[in-house]
Amino acid sequence: MTFERISEYQARLRLGQTTVKDEVLLCLERALSQAHLNAFLELYTEEALARAEALDQEISSGNIKPLTGVVVGLKDNICYAGHLVSASSKILEGFQSLYSATVVERLLEQGAVVIGRLNCDEFAMGSSNENSAFGPVLNPLDTSRVPGGSSGGSAAAVAMGACHLSLGTDTGGSVRQPAAYCGVVGFKPTYGRISRHGIIAFASSFDQVGVFGQSVEDVAHLVTFISGKDEFDSTCTADANDVLTLKSEKKFYRIGYSPSWMNSSALNPELQSMLQNFLERSTKEGHTLIPFEIEGMDYAIPVYYILATAEASSNLNRYSGMHYGVRNADADSLESTFKLSRSQGFGPEVQRRIMLGTYVLSEGYYDAYYVKAQKVRRLLRDQFQQIMSECDVFALPTTVGPAFEVGSKCNDPLAMYLEDQFTVLANLTGLPAISIPLGFDKEGMPLALQLMGSAFQEQGLFEAANQFCYKESLK
Ligand code: GLN
Repeated sequence: MTFERISEYQARLRLGQTTVKDEVLLCLERALSQAHLNAFLELYTEEALARAEALDQEISSGNIKPLTGVVVGLKDNICYAGHLVSASSKILEGFQSLYSATVVERLLEQGAVVIGRLNCDEFAMGSSNENSAFGPVLNPLDTSRVPGGSSGGSAAAVAMGACHLSLGTDTGGSVRQPAAYCGVVGFKPTYGRISRHGIIAFASSFDQVGVFGQSVEDVAHLVTFISGKDEFDSTCTADANDVLTLKSEKKFYRIGYSPSWMNSSALNPELQSMLQNFLERSTKEGHTLIPFEIEGMDYAIPVYYILATAEASSNLNRYSGMHYGVRNADADSLESTFKLSRSQGFGPEVQRRIMLGTYVLSEGYYDAYYVKAQKVRRLLRDQFQQIMSECDVFALPTTVGPAFEVGSKCNDPLAMYLEDQFTVLANLTGLPAISIPLGFDKEGMPLALQLMGSAFQEQGLFEAANQFCYKESLK
C-alpha cells in the first residue's frame, strides 16, 4: 500500500495493518531502485531499520507520537549528530556533525525516522542542483530535466516516494522552486518560525528551513512539531504551541495578485493560462481578487543577489582550512593554507558568490550596493506589510515554467538567477509562502502556484493552500 497521509498511515499503524519497518523497507527499495537520480548522498539503512523496529515495539504498547513512523530525509546542510554533513561541498568532506539541528532533535522526539542525507547545490547556492560537488540530481518525472534547486534531492526524494516528507532550506526559493519542478508541495515559513540552529548558514537574514510533502496537510502537520522558540536561535520567535490543524470548512478569501506578474511575458504560455484559469475560477467560487502593482519589483533579483552574496561571503569565511574545512596538503604558510584550501574546496559558483559578496561590501561600493539594496528590501517589505493587511493570501507563480533541461542554463549564471524572480520576494520580506501543484503541461511536467501569507499566519496560509489545491489527492 502506498503512503497517502500521515493521519491515514498512522491509523493503519494503530490497527496493525502495517508496520514502520515495512514502510521504511518500501522507502529504501524505492531509493535504491532510483539511485541513478542521485538524490541521496547516503542512506541510513541499518539505523533506520533498527529505529523502525523500536518504534513498532512502542506502537504495540500503545505509544504513538505525532510523527511516529514518519520517514523523513534531510538536506545535506542540516546537522545530525554523528553523521556526515557537507553542504554538498568538497570543503567539508569527511566532516561529522557534533550535534543535531534543533529541527532534527524535534523530529526524533516526535517519533520520525531519518532515512538519509540528500544531495543539494553546494552551500545551497543554485536553482538546478547542478552545483553539487557530488554531481547533479535528476528530475524523477523526466531524467533529462533538473529537479530544481538548491534542495533538489529533497524534492526528488519525496516525488519518488523514498520518504514521506523531507527538509530543505529556502534562502531565495530553494524549497518552493524544486517542489514546483517535481510536482510536490513545498513550504517556506515566516522568518523566525523554525529554528536555524544546526543549519549550515548561507545568508542568515534569508535562510529558513522548509518542508516538502505530498500534501498540504502533511506539511502543516510536520511544521507544527518543528516550529517554535529555541534557546539556540535568538531570531526564532514563534510560539511553539501554535498547532497547525487544518479546518476543512471552505472559506472565501481575499486574494491579492499582481496582474502584470500573472500575465508576464516571461511565463511559459501553458502556465500563464493555468494561472489565468485559477484567477477566473476563484472569482466564480466567490473569492475576491484584489490587484496590486508592486513598486521596485524589477530590483528584487539584484537586491537578493547583492544581500545574499554579501552575507554568504561573511558566513563562508570560516571554511579556511584552519578551523573548518579540509586543509590543503601542499599549504606551507597561513596564506597558502587559506588560498589553496578555499580554491580547491569551493566550487565555481560558491567562489563567484564569495567574490560578488566581498565586492559589494568593500569600501567605496558598500553604500552604492549593499546599503542601497537594504533600502529596496525595506521598501518591498513595507509594501507587502500593507498588501497583506488588505488580503488573506497573495497569489503568484512559483517559477516561469516547467523544469528545464539538464545543462541548459549552467553556463549562464544570469539566466539561472532569473529562475528565482518570483520566489525571492518571500525571503526579502520574511513572509511565509507555499508552492502547490496547479496542473501538468502537455509533456506531463508539473506546473505550480505560489501563495504568500501574513507573517506568522501559517494556519491561514495552509488552509488556503489546501482549499486551492484542486487535485484531490494533493490536499
Ligand atoms: N536559487 C537561489 C540562489 O541560488 C536560492 C537558493 C536558496 O534558496 N538556497 O541563491
